[in-house]
Amino acid sequence: RVVLDVEGLRMRYGATDVLHDVTFQAHHGEVLALLGPNGAGKSTTIEILEGFRMRSAGRVEVLGTDPAHGGEEWRARLGVVLQSWRDHGKWRVRELLAHLGSYYTCYSTDAIPRPWDTDDLVRTVGLAEHADKKIRMLSGGQRRRLDVAIAIVGRPEVLFLDEPTTGFDPEARREFHDLVRRLADELETTVLLTTHDLDEAEKLADRIVILSQGRIVADGTAVELSRRI
Ligand code: ADP
Ligand code: ADP
Repeated sequence: RVVLDVEGLRMRYGATDVLHDVTFQAHHGEVLALLGPNGAGKSTTIEILEGFRMRSAGRVEVLGTDPAHGGEEWRARLGVVLQSWRDHGKWRVRELLAHLGSYYTCYSTDAIPRPWDTDDLVRTVGLAEHADKKIRMLSGGQRRRLDVAIAIVGRPEVLFLDEPTTGFDPEARREFHDLVRRLADELETTVLLTTHDLDEAEKLADRIVILSQGRIVADGTAVELSRRI
């Protein structure tokens, strides 16, 4: 089943085209890495798919819906990492996750499953020992895991991660990769992540789409791409 379907996507800021004819797909339960240097257009692409930015041209469907017309029910099926919760530094990890979960409870329908039990969620992201800490006491790597916990609290079918491991040490990076793999393999979450790190894309992604100056220059598994390079 195709979950992300992008065809002929174009984005223009003023007189400058930053995405030219971008076409790719991601299937159910797949981890797809959008790989490219700074300025390649990765964030722009992910923000268009999340419904935060209006595209200039092309066809985009996320879970069969055009993000430009996605309503609340569609949005509740997505996991998005936002920065704004960081202002809640005085809250404890458990409090924030329970609070956010309660929002999703009101959306629960046949299409949208119930949110996580908070204890299961903190265990899944590896924050069980830190659940009663105030957010401002967490390390950078722990904050990123909390980012993911917040993004998945409503059990999204699709998870968007923009440069999720920036600033991680190797240990935190490895733990984070294990977490994303588990989400894809056990919960069948479709994951789109951006990175400028080839090594990360190779380790983590089922498929890699390489973006350079707003154009797709390669699309395949790590093995397929290494044969071509
Ligand atoms: P990446 O995430 O790969 O680093 P971006 O999508 O952030 O790339 O940026 C792609 C290009 O679009 C860059 O040249 C950037 O300067 C430009 N850009 C991004 N956002 C805007 C904006 N709001 N207005 C004008 N140009 C922008
Ligand atoms: P450190 O503990 O390493 O000095 P901080 O605790 O200040 O760093 O922040 C860790 C990460 O969270 C950094 O990437 C920082 O930019 C981000 N951050 C901290 N506070 C905020 C905030 N209020 N809004 C957005 N980002 C924040």
